[in-house]
Amino acid sequence: MKAPIIGITSTLVKIDEMSEGVYVHQDYHKAIQACGGLPMILPLTDETSYRAMIDRCDALIISGGEDVDPLYFDAEPHPGLGKVFPLRDRLEIDAIRYARTLDKPLLAICRGVQVLNVAFGGTLIQDIPAQCPGSLQHSQKRARSLDSHWVEIHPQSRLFRIFGSEKVRVNSLHHQSVEQVADGFITTAVASDGIIEGIEDPKARFFMGVQWHPESMHSHDPLMLALFDSLVKEGAKTPV
Ligand code: MN
Repeated sequence: MKAPIIGITSTLVKIDEMSEGVYVHQDYHKAIQACGGLPMILPLTDETSYRAMIDRCDALIISGGEDVDPLYFDAEPHPGLGKVFPLRDRLEIDAIRYARTLDKPLLAICRGVQVLNVAFGGTLIQDIPAQCPGSLQHSQKRARSLDSHWVEIHPQSRLFRIFGSEKVRVNSLHHQSVEQVADGFITTAVASDGIIEGIEDPKARFFMGVQWHPESMHSHDPLMLALFDSLVKEGAKTPV
């Protein structure tokens, strides 16, 4: 049997005048490979070819990155808003909606869960430290792979069925988060300060997002490995 193709969204970086191109953290494709999937990085092209790439994928990862332009959730920019990338927003929003119409399995990570929520009409907190006094430290100072806070997992969720636990340790590298959850989605993970850290569409085969970075924990945390394993296994069931 062929390994399922897991498409991973990417961004664009400019290193210097000579080097400019596709970027995504290597932990994403390492996590997919660790579970027997075939990772394919999707470059930011245009709507038509982006959809054509999604057609070829058995499952998708919407990766982390820039802040989401508040234009897409009918808000004005907060002073704490970071760097935005409108082309990426546009292509990923379209890609996520398109993937849902095809019932492709999808795991959205960090920025990904934010784009997922916005794609279906949800809103975002643009800057947690400024907008949520008393919140936890969500931009951890320790290494990316290390856990830093707890999340509570909704017991009636696919995420709970994967983890088998109501409380899980996660890393935290974000200053934005889901605010109003999109219609049709449920909250699956919440931090102790009330910040939403996971959502999913319970009617879909596998359509979820998490606010932390499980790809950077998979090599030492069996629960995070199980999350990718579950995505790859579901991808293997996608009809060709
Ligand atoms: Mn967090």
